Amino acid sequence: MLIVFGSRTVRIKKYVDSNQPCTNCGTPELEIKVYRRYHHFCFVPVWPAAAKGATIICKHCGAHYNNYDMQERVAATRAPFYLYSLPILVALYIPVSLVIRSKNKQDTQTYINNPQIGDVYTVEEKEGKETNYFFLKIADIKDDTVYAYHSNMVYGTDVDRLADEDYFVKDDLMSNTKAGLKAMLKDGIVVQVRRGYSKYGGYYREQ
Ligand SMILES: [Zn+2]
Repeated sequence: MLIVFGSRTVRIKKYVDSNQPCTNCGTPELEIKVYRRYHHFCFVPVWPAAAKGATIICKHCGAHYNNYDMQERVAATRAPFYLYSLPILVALYIPVSLVIRSKNKQDTQTYINNPQIGDVYTVEEKEGKETNYFFLKIADIKDDTVYAYHSNMVYGTDVDRLADEDYFVKDDLMSNTKAGLKAMLKDGIVVQVRRGYSKYGGYYREQ
């Protein structure tokens, strides 16, 4: 079995601050990107990783700021809105979602028993009190070994699609056995498997 260990840096927030002027050129157009680093081991993520970091660049003159209010900004960074909006929607549609869940559960069992290239897995990982989710997409199957790409971003809730700027990372292949996948479902690490999906989920995006 191929063992893959690695880490990935995930951008959790990007925005332009129009309130603070650049100290170099005076233009209030600072682009701020907040990052967090994660580790993974095969399909099983190994958390936690490093603390958050941030880059701040003036979009007008290109000046870089390494210490410009950074701690304050990073500390102020919250999870993106979709981490909160989904539970509210779920509460509104509980009866509907129960039926859909039952169907999804059946499909997931069927798909995991017979993996195919293109299948998309929702993977759940617990880190202390936090539960995070990311996506895996089967890229190749050779005999008993299944190879998959992971999504670039990690989510704070079980979202049903990739964020608009998220994609599957083609140069970071992970692997597992078919039996390993079944075990992940049994252990609740695999939450759902999708097949025959539409473009809505963004699962076709790879980089
Ligand atoms: Zn500037």
